[in-house]
Amino acid sequence: MTKRFSFEFFPPKTDAGRENLKTTRQTLNALGPDFFSVTYGAGGSTRDNTRDTILAMRSEGISVAPHLSFGGDDEATILQLLKDYQTAGVDRIVALRGDVPSGMGAARLIYASELVAFIRKHFGKAFHIEVAAYPEIHPDAKTYAEDVAYLKAKFDAGADSALTQYFYNADAYFYFVERCASIGIDQPIVPGLMPITNFQNLARFSRNCGAEIPRWISKRLEGYGDDADSVFKFGIEVVTRIGEQLLAGGAPGLHFYSMNQVEPTRTIWNNLKLSEAK
Ligand code: FAD
Repeated sequence: MTKRFSFEFFPPKTDAGRENLKTTRQTLNALGPDFFSVTYGAGGSTRDNTRDTILAMRSEGISVAPHLSFGGDDEATILQLLKDYQTAGVDRIVALRGDVPSGMGAARLIYASELVAFIRKHFGKAFHIEVAAYPEIHPDAKTYAEDVAYLKAKFDAGADSALTQYFYNADAYFYFVERCASIGIDQPIVPGLMPITNFQNLARFSRNCGAEIPRWISKRLEGYGDDADSVFKFGIEVVTRIGEQLLAGGAPGLHFYSMNQVEPTRTIWNNLKLSEAK
């Protein structure tokens, strides 16, 4: 089976960010990924920015997959957004529950499986639907088995494939895929790779999303202090190695959390010789 590769962006908020992203996507698109995905802020906070970024990329002929969650929006709003995407030629959606944004209190979050069912009900097979998967298990999950079962529910509702949260331990991914297979999940589960460029930011973010940074990696990164060059080089080495292990072990592709930057993703891509792998 051909492997598939994708790059993730977040929607920029400023004119400078938009300009930067334009250069970034054109440079990364030249590598030949299968698609780019664009995140959706918690509670729908980036709804317009995500849509504008997606439409701008479609007008340049780039394959895109908007992330989407119900957030605080009603069905009519989400339906309209999906229609706008369909009109623009979008054929892939990353369907999520999302998180409660600060200030939204105890709003009920709509599970990703419900959004998948909603998209299938209104659009049939018009979109390839990606969902999120967590090899180190979602932070809210009560048990490992329950989280895997809820991933199965997303596939049963009509999802086509999954993109994973990032991790720095390939065994966590391989074990997870085995457990998924054991309950009948046979759709592709594409591992997410997060390049390492800033240790403090990564450590904070990882605490929130339940991704573990192995002690040997955090100790090494701590030791570099403010030496950004050494952090970058070590980060590239670590993530390249994980990418090699994942592909050699049969992962169906890779999803890069690019953080809207060219260099980390391009360097890992080139180290893994992915242009030749395609
Ligand atoms: P779900 O699959 O709905 O699961 C959420 C939790 O509820 C899990 O613990 C699950 O075990 C449990 N659960 C699921 N169904 C049920 C049920 N029926 N009953 C009880 N419990 C249930 N966040 C953003 O805000 N914007 C983004 O663009 C974004 N992109 C992401 C992309 C990827 C590839 C990944 C891995 C994550 C992304 N996230 C994003 C983060 C994601 O929104 C959060 O992790 C969120 O907390 C869970 O979303 P989900 O779609 O995985 O939720």
